[in-house]
Amino acid sequence: MKKLTKMIMTMAMVAVMGKAALAAAPADTLAEVKKKGVLVAGVKDSLPPFGYIDEKSRQIIGYDIDFINAIARKLGVKVELKPVTSASRMPQLQESHIDIIAATMTKNPDRAKQVDFSHTYFFTGQKFITKKGSVHSVKDLEGKRIGTAKGSTSEQNVKKAIPTASVLSFDDYPQAFLALQQGKVAGVTTDEAILAGILAKAPNKAQFEIPNVQISEEPYGLGMRKGDKNFVDFVNKTILEMEKSGEARKIFDKWFGPTTQFHLNRNFKITANN
Ligand code: GLU
Repeated sequence: MKKLTKMIMTMAMVAVMGKAALAAAPADTLAEVKKKGVLVAGVKDSLPPFGYIDEKSRQIIGYDIDFINAIARKLGVKVELKPVTSASRMPQLQESHIDIIAATMTKNPDRAKQVDFSHTYFFTGQKFITKKGSVHSVKDLEGKRIGTAKGSTSEQNVKKAIPTASVLSFDDYPQAFLALQQGKVAGVTTDEAILAGILAKAPNKAQFEIPNVQISEEPYGLGMRKGDKNFVDFVNKTILEMEKSGEARKIFDKWFGPTTQFHLNRNFKITANN
């Protein structure tokens, strides 16, 4: 009996150690991507202008996709895009279903415990979209229902900023905006650049607005597996080069600049400092 217990314990220990060894195995995505000839990126597919399906080509296009295309070009490999949600993107990366996240993802210390981030490649802040004239300050949203996406910083930030609000979390922001159109929530909250994209596409956009009420700052990073140093270094080097050559600004202008409906100012630069 004693012997059997000891044997079972040893087997259990081996199993646990095996798992730990597996988990600790350092990823070398750079070498793997070169070998398989394709970079698999987790992207949004319903958030213009970051990642959305082009009506003509039926391909996913956008700001996030252009960064992936540039990185893949530098690597000399093809691109495969896999749609992710805010909640699914980190598990998808950790389970190696994707090599990199380029999906409107904010860098923060909590997430940095689980994934490694590139330098900041986009910068925005969290706001609200509401019925025109209904909201002038955060106070107007107290005790109200507010829609957002599951697993987002938007969800966490709004709970902190307006504790009396009831937060309804959807799979992604278009569903939350539908709830606003149907009068089920008083507002939708996430990053201003995402809200601007939703508003631009809304058929009844004259009824809505993005009041000048900001509750956080949201620097975006490309997400990679924790400790995947060669790949993180390569991606950082590439996007720093894109800044230097003017390509990063070109991509910004293409999606947000004066010839678009957004007319955003590029109030950031890609630097090695953040
Ligand atoms: N940037 C925020 C986040 O990473 C909100 C947008 C999103 O859900 O992707 O959570």
